[in-house]
Amino acid sequence: MASPVVAPLSSWAAKEKLTNWAGNLTYSTEQLHEARSVEQIRSVVQSQDKVKVLGTRHCFNSIADSRHSLLSLKPMHEVVALDPGARTVTVDAGVTYGQLGPYLDSNGFALHNLASLPHISIAGACSTATHGSGEKNGNLATAVSAVEIVNAAGDVVKLSRKSDGEAFRGAVVGLGALGVIARITLDIQPTYAVRQYVYENMSLAQMKDHFDEIQASGYSVSLFTDWQRQRITEVWIKSRVGDGPGFAAPAEFFGAKLADRNLHPIAELSAENCTEQMGVAGPWYERLPHFRMGFTPSAGKELQSEYFVPRRYAVDAILAVERLRDQVTPHLLISEIRTIAADDLWMSTCYHQPSVTIHFTWKQDWPAVRRLLPVIEKELSPFQPRPHWGKLFTLSPAQLRSRYEKLADFRQLATRFDPKGKFRNDFLNTNLFAR
Ligand SMILES: Cc1cc2nc3c(=O)[nH]c(=O)nc-3n(C[C@H](O)[C@H](O)[C@H](O)COP(=O)(O)OP(=O)(O)OC[C@H]3O[C@@H](n4cnc5c(N)ncnc54)[C@H](O)[C@@H]3O)c2cc1C
Repeated sequence: MASPVVAPLSSWAAKEKLTNWAGNLTYSTEQLHEARSVEQIRSVVQSQDKVKVLGTRHCFNSIADSRHSLLSLKPMHEVVALDPGARTVTVDAGVTYGQLGPYLDSNGFALHNLASLPHISIAGACSTATHGSGEKNGNLATAVSAVEIVNAAGDVVKLSRKSDGEAFRGAVVGLGALGVIARITLDIQPTYAVRQYVYENMSLAQMKDHFDEIQASGYSVSLFTDWQRQRITEVWIKSRVGDGPGFAAPAEFFGAKLADRNLHPIAELSAENCTEQMGVAGPWYERLPHFRMGFTPSAGKELQSEYFVPRRYAVDAILAVERLRDQVTPHLLISEIRTIAADDLWMSTCYHQPSVTIHFTWKQDWPAVRRLLPVIEKELSPFQPRPHWGKLFTLSPAQLRSRYEKLADFRQLATRFDPKGKFRNDFLNTNLFAR
C-alpha cells in the first residue's frame, strides 16, 4: 500500500501563499496535496470531505479555489498511449499542451487547435471550454474523445464519446464539478505546418463590411484592438500549409498593411515571447498559440474577461463594445476578437452556437474592472453573452444559468458523480448549484 499521499506540496508550502498565475487570486487554503498516480488521486479523494483540483492555475476567477483542500496533478505528466490507428492520444491529466505538442509532432501528429498560450493543462483547459480561433474549429474540449474521472467515492469512471453519448457530452466541460479527471484522450490528426501573418491598422468600417471574409481568410484569425480611432490594430492570420491554396498574404488586406516584423498583440511590447510570424512556416504547436512556451505569455500583470456571443451578432456586438471605448480603453491592455465553431458539450460556451468572442486583457486594477464589467455586460445583453468560465465576469447567477439550457441535466450528472458536493466550491455553488 502506498504511504499516505496527503503531503503538502513543498514548493508551495509555508513561505509563499499559493496564487493563480496572474496573482490576482490567493487560494483560500494552504492545504495542498499532490498525486503522482491514479491510485494516489483516489486516495486523496477518499480522505477528503472537500477537494478541488488545480490545473496550471491560469483561471482569473475563483473557479479552481477551495477553502478546504486543493489537489495538484502536476507530477502526472506522462503520455499514456498514442494510438495511430484510432488517431487518439491519451495523457495524464497533468500534461500541458506545451508538453504534448512536440511529442505529437515528433510522432507525425497534431491537435486541431490551441489556445493563445501552450502553458495550460489540457484537463483544466477542457474543463473550462478553453478555445483558440477559427470559424471551423471547435474549442479545445471538442477534441476530447474519452475521459477517466475519479468520482467522489474514489471510483474511476470512464466515459467515451463513442459509448456514453449524453453523459460524455455533459462531463467534458465539467468545470471541475464531477470529480478529478485522471486521464484524457484527444483526437489527433496528421501533423501540419502553419504560416502566420500579421496586418496592422484595419478600419472598423472594413471589419464591419467584410467580417465574414476576414474570418474565412485563415485557419485561425484573431483581431486585436484597443477600441480607439475606429480601427483594428492588428489582424493575425494563421494559415495551414498544404491545405488548398492557403492565404496569399497580399501587401494590403482590407486596407490593413502587412507587418514587416514580428509583433506582440500589445504593439508596445517586445515580440520576443510571441510565436514566429512573417509567413515563416513552422509546426502547428509553434504557430497556433500567439505566445511561445518558455516565455511569459501575454503581459503577465493583467486580468482577463471574455464574452461569447452568437456569431450572427458578431459585428453588432463588436460595435456595441466600441461605443464604450472611452470607458474601456483606460483600463485595457488589449482586446481580441475570435470565432469558434458550435459544439454539443453541455456546459460549453459554444453549446449549439457558432460564436464570436470579445476578449479583454485588463490592467490589473480589479476595482476599476469590476465597475466596468456590468457596463459591458449590459451593452452586450441583447446578444445574451456567455462569459468565459475561467475569466472575470459580474453577470448574475440567474442570468448565467439562463444561458445554459442543459444546466438541469448537468446538475443531475454532477450529483450522480458527487452526491454530497465534495468537488463543489463557492464559485460553483453560487453560479450553478444554488437554487
Ligand atoms: C495568459 C493567458 C492566456 C489565456 N488564453 C486563453 C485563450 O486563448 N483561450 C481561452 O479560452 N482561454 C485562455 N485563457 C484562460 C485559460 O485557458 C483557462 O483559464 C484554463 O482553464 C486554464 O487551465 P488551467 O489548467 O490553468 O486551469 P485552472 O485554473 O488550474 O483550473 C480551471 C478549472 O479546471 C478544473 N480542473 C483542472 N484540472 C482538472 C482535473 N484534472 N480534473 C477536473 N477538473 C480540473 C479546476 O478545478 C478548475 O475548475 C488564458 C489564460 C491566461 C492566463
